[in-house]
Amino acid sequence: MRTFSRWQRLKDVVLSTDPRRRTLVGMALLALLLMAGSAGVMLLVAHASDTVDKTAVQWWAALSVGGLVVMTAFIRSGETAHLRDPSLTIPQMVWTITSGAVAYVLAGDARGLVPSVLAMILFFGTFGLTVAEVIGIGVYALLAFACAIGMSSRFSANASGYLDTAYALMVLLVLSGCMALNLRIQRIRTKLRQQREALAQALAVNRELATRDELTGLLNRRAMLELMDMEHRRSLRSGRPMLLAEIDIDHFKRVNDTHGHATGDRALQAFAGNVRASVRDTDVLARWGGEEFVLMLSDTRPEDARELLERVRQSVEAMTIPHATGVLRMTVSIGLALHLPGDTVEHTLERADQALYTAKSLGRNRVVVAPASHRPSPGYATNARA
Ligand code: GH3
Ligand code: MG
Ligand code: MG
Repeated sequence: MRTFSRWQRLKDVVLSTDPRRRTLVGMALLALLLMAGSAGVMLLVAHASDTVDKTAVQWWAALSVGGLVVMTAFIRSGETAHLRDPSLTIPQMVWTITSGAVAYVLAGDARGLVPSVLAMILFFGTFGLTVAEVIGIGVYALLAFACAIGMSSRFSANASGYLDTAYALMVLLVLSGCMALNLRIQRIRTKLRQQREALAQALAVNRELATRDELTGLLNRRAMLELMDMEHRRSLRSGRPMLLAEIDIDHFKRVNDTHGHATGDRALQAFAGNVRASVRDTDVLARWGGEEFVLMLSDTRPEDARELLERVRQSVEAMTIPHATGVLRMTVSIGLALHLPGDTVEHTLERADQALYTAKSLGRNRVVVAPASHRPSPGYATNARA
């Protein structure tokens, strides 16, 4: 357990605690390790061979590894985080390809080692490059190795014609093979990204559909309950009350019975649009079910809310909905209740419902305000309306 936490701490120190930077530093360290390994092999070759320039190889090894050490340190410092290429993939690849090309010249007869290292370098591009960058890096590698192949015959003491050609062909094969694979992987990555985006979009549409009432486009009951719960918690923190109003269309059954269900649907849509236009953007109207709606008003004084709802009532009363033989008019009854932070949403809804019932029994087409709330007993949590 202790070893594990010590290992974790060491990883935190080396790779950093930031998850994104950890990945980048991890990749840079892997590249560094591979470069150090390749440099080790080259030094071994230089040590054993009489034809290889030992000093040149030592310089080459120091510069190749040193360059990657500097870049890794730069990534670890977090300085690259704001760059377009925070992993420094392009500079690292250009550096290692150049180093590979120089190694090809320096390695003399052992240059057959280089193509496998080149393959490794090019494989690194798979993770952070775009298609254009893959092509750019490929062209650069081709030019660098064309120069290296051209120069290697001059530097190599016992260059034999057929081996030179074979190595050059190997480099070419590795280059084109890696490029083709790389491009294929990039295409798969692009496709995956597009699919991910399409999925995220579909999910957003789905989420939107799940919270909306299809007919009126208003929030549905479930979404409204969530919103009211959020607003309730906000009012607990801020101490600011919210107001809940239940709005029910009067004698709506008659609309359906007289004009048909389709006209009833159009009337519900017109009603929703009308009320939405009469209230502020911050007030939320939801379809509670059938021809019943709930309006949530935050940051509103009760007397202002009463006035606003009176305006809503008048506006609905003045509304005309054309149908086959004339126009249709509607009225609404509204029950308003003030929700105090210590109360429950369910209890406030029940009070609004009772006020609505009173409005109906007093003859409809009116706004009734619920009497002040008595704090509910602890554990009170019944649903206001089934
Ligand atoms: P009250 O004044 O007491 O509220 O009477 P009401 O007729 O409005 O109330 P009731 O509950 O008796 O009837 C509600 C009607 O609303 C019955 C139902 O067919 C209709 N309704 C509910 N949902 C829809 C809908 O989506 N479209 C249409 N066209 N009608 C609906
Ligand atoms: Mg009704
Ligand atoms: Mg009703």
